[in-house]
Amino acid sequence: MIARQSDAGHFAKNWQQQLAEAFTSLDDLCRYLHLDMGSLPVSTSAAQPFALKVPVSFAACMEKGNPFDPLLRQVLPINDELLAYPGFTDDPVGDIAASPQAGVLHKYQGRVLLVTTGSCAVNCRYCFRRNFPYGDLQLSKQTEQAAIDYIQADPSISEVILSGGDPLLLSDARLAQLFTQFSGIGHLKRVRIHSRLPIVLPARVTDTLVEILAQSGKQAIVVVHCNHANELGGQAQAACRKLNRQGITLLNQAVLLQGVNDNAAVLGQLSEQLFGLGVLPYYLHLLDKASGTGHFDVSESRAKAIMAELQATLPGYLVPKLVKEQAGAASKTLVI
Ligand SMILES: *Cc1c(COP(=O)(O)O)cnc(C)c1O
Ligand code: SF4
Repeated sequence: MIARQSDAGHFAKNWQQQLAEAFTSLDDLCRYLHLDMGSLPVSTSAAQPFALKVPVSFAACMEKGNPFDPLLRQVLPINDELLAYPGFTDDPVGDIAASPQAGVLHKYQGRVLLVTTGSCAVNCRYCFRRNFPYGDLQLSKQTEQAAIDYIQADPSISEVILSGGDPLLLSDARLAQLFTQFSGIGHLKRVRIHSRLPIVLPARVTDTLVEILAQSGKQAIVVVHCNHANELGGQAQAACRKLNRQGITLLNQAVLLQGVNDNAAVLGQLSEQLFGLGVLPYYLHLLDKASGTGHFDVSESRAKAIMAELQATLPGYLVPKLVKEQAGAASKTLVI
């Protein structure tokens, strides 16, 4: 972090510069939030293997002076991460076994997921990626053609999903190249992007990006990842509206997280606000049981109780599907 300037000065910069200036120091983040680091359960050892990383645009949505802020909880390395919980492992979703070749995950019928990059703009403490060797698996320029050939050779594949890490960390030029390749594959109907950037680094949603998505000749879907309505600050709202205006289908996936969004009122508000921006709730994931994340876990019985309350208070289209990921299963597993 370089010396702090005003938020306005920071947000005037392009997304690459904003990313380069993301908080990576606990001291800087605490100072920005007017929090006394000594009074927080922060852990520098937890931050060793999986560093603190928070874009200013995300930190700006946190409540200053609140150590229990639900957005802060998602990104702050704390002592609880060092605790071992039974059943929490390093590859909870079995992704290593599902990779036919570098960068390609073909677990589900008709859909192929490409691991385009191992990096993200934010390091979410609950993420299974914290322990996962994505660096070894991700698509490189060299393996990209092999991945395209793989999709081309299998007419049962109707949808390609760009994931990661965060695929919107790829440059516009690289994305445009990929989309050009996709447009040449006749059996491909849809291109889907799973990204947290429209929420945590909304400056990424440039006019060029929207053009690439809207003019690809395939149906474009962007699945954003937002866990709490407070994440939808003015810039994130504008980014969603911008995508929506171009006819891009917008869905949200969230993770059910203890101390963040584990109650029906918070989730109901999230659905309502997303819908106002043209984003439909898609999945609510039970936590993947990755080492270091046990303190975020919400039991299945509590999750079901929360879902019942959502069902009783919201129109059906605002109720996400509660799912969990099971190694070896043919789809996400519905929890009902
Ligand atoms: C989650 C996931 C998908 C997408 O599943 P949908 O139910 O279609 O959203 C595809 N491939 C892999 C490997 C996944 O983990
Ligand atoms: S993959 Fe998604 S949940 Fe995991 S760190 Fe990246 S943005 Fe966060």
